[in-house]
Amino acid sequence: MNCNCCPRNCGADRDSGKLGYCRTHDDLYISSICAHRGEEPVLSGSHGIANIFFSHCNMQCIYCQNYQISDTRSDSSLCQMTLTEIVAQVEAILNRGAIGVGFVSPSHFVAQMRRIMTAVSKRGRDPVYVYNTNGYDLLETIASLEDEIDVYLPDLKYLDDRLAGEYSDTPNYTEFALPALKEMYRQKGANIDLNDDNLITRGLIIRHLVLPGHVENSKAVLRFIADELSPDCYISLMAQYYPTPRVADHPLLGRTLRPEEYDEVLEEFEQLGFHRGFIQELSSPFHYKPDFIKDHPFED
Ligand code: SF4
Repeated sequence: MNCNCCPRNCGADRDSGKLGYCRTHDDLYISSICAHRGEEPVLSGSHGIANIFFSHCNMQCIYCQNYQISDTRSDSSLCQMTLTEIVAQVEAILNRGAIGVGFVSPSHFVAQMRRIMTAVSKRGRDPVYVYNTNGYDLLETIASLEDEIDVYLPDLKYLDDRLAGEYSDTPNYTEFALPALKEMYRQKGANIDLNDDNLITRGLIIRHLVLPGHVENSKAVLRFIADELSPDCYISLMAQYYPTPRVADHPLLGRTLRPEEYDEVLEEFEQLGFHRGFIQELSSPFHYKPDFIKDHPFED
């Protein structure tokens, strides 16, 4: 079957082993499954969320913080797993007290994500499913997930397609990401449901990574959400950017965020009336350096 699962619309016959932009065929390619305690507190809680990190990505951000597993120029992160292995690892994390399963970079693996959800449910489990996406999704795909996904955790990376093209090879990012985000909002609204342990069970949290030298893009992202969705939305405004080796010498991306840059974005956040969400300390780049070569990429 020709793949048109994401906005790339490559038409690659992945069933037959053909490769499209994301350079993955139809099997289950997963680079890591771990209990991730570093997500927003309502997602991680004390037991973490069972995150399933799919290999490769349908965006190719030159600064990607998970570059070890997302970069399609290398196949070294491609780890083929069986459904049985995946479900066993997920169940082990759920057995230790996690309530959520997060699909990280699922946009090019939606069919495989559904196979995992079906297999988990056959084991009598009903976790909170989180769709943790770069935002470059088809509206139709998001619409089709309405009854399956409990929590949307999209990035809104750009309101500037010139930047999106230059940095992420997605010169039409807004054409797809904005309608997809509106659809997530239509499904979930601005409020989130929490259980007795303050863990999210339903809703939408919109992430935005503030990039060094690009405060205006960040402010435009916030303005879009305030104007087109609602200032009641939960926003996760991330300051954790650190320059990966690929952009170490880049004139803008080769440094961490300056305090005054983050402050300016925070000021816009407040002026627009946002009042719910998560902000980060500027020291966060020093805490957020995953290493997917390790069994647990987020722990020493
Ligand atoms: S999922 Fe992969 S093969 Fe399918 S359209 Fe997107 S990039 Fe192309």
